[in-house]
Amino acid sequence: MTKSSTKTRSKKIKTKQKKNKIIYFMNTSSRFNKRNFQKFEKFVREYCERHGKKIIIKPTKHLRANGVKYGGCCDGNSMQVASKNPLFENIFVHEFSHMTQAVEEIDLWYDYGDIWEPLAENRISIASWDEFMKVIALERDCERRALKFIRKFKLCSEEDYALKANTYLYYYQYVFLTKNWNQKKSIYGSPEVNALMPTKLLPMSTFKKIDMKIMEAFFKYLKK
Ligand SMILES: [Zn+2]
Repeated sequence: MTKSSTKTRSKKIKTKQKKNKIIYFMNTSSRFNKRNFQKFEKFVREYCERHGKKIIIKPTKHLRANGVKYGGCCDGNSMQVASKNPLFENIFVHEFSHMTQAVEEIDLWYDYGDIWEPLAENRISIASWDEFMKVIALERDCERRALKFIRKFKLCSEEDYALKANTYLYYYQYVFLTKNWNQKKSIYGSPEVNALMPTKLLPMSTFKKIDMKIMEAFFKYLKK
């Protein structure tokens, strides 16, 4: 825990719940404008420095923890991104967006769903639904922030990013049903799933109902 987090944590009682929670993100793929991304990266570095946050770039394709494979994570004190992941830029924007949630101390950040340990310990059940909804709510807010940065810095196609963000959020429903996070394939590689996905970030209310058409498309693509 860094000094800065101790400082922010003392402000509100609720913040104590948020210790050491890691937000996982698989990855998405979009074509990024290199020069604009460099400007964004500079902004991120300055922001993190100003708030006493760390950026850790690891020269690997994936990060791993407790049997879970992911492209980046953010615990509110540091953000980590796997730089050899072909989707590095997307993950970087996503994890930084989580960092802004932590810095702004939004309620969603502290009300994070408990799904990772139950997933690792095979304890996901119908009773886990509310926890999945909390995770989706936090991740959706993160994607909303990411899209704002993409628009502001003209990083890549907003439609492309939003399509993948929706896919990512629906994937949590799939994980709830299948009780399994890790996949051998990228969840963004199914033409059938992509065809079903809107190119505008969907409202939270949409994710409160399982979309079986999308679940079946995920299943057809990911089952092997
Ligand atoms: Zn995330």
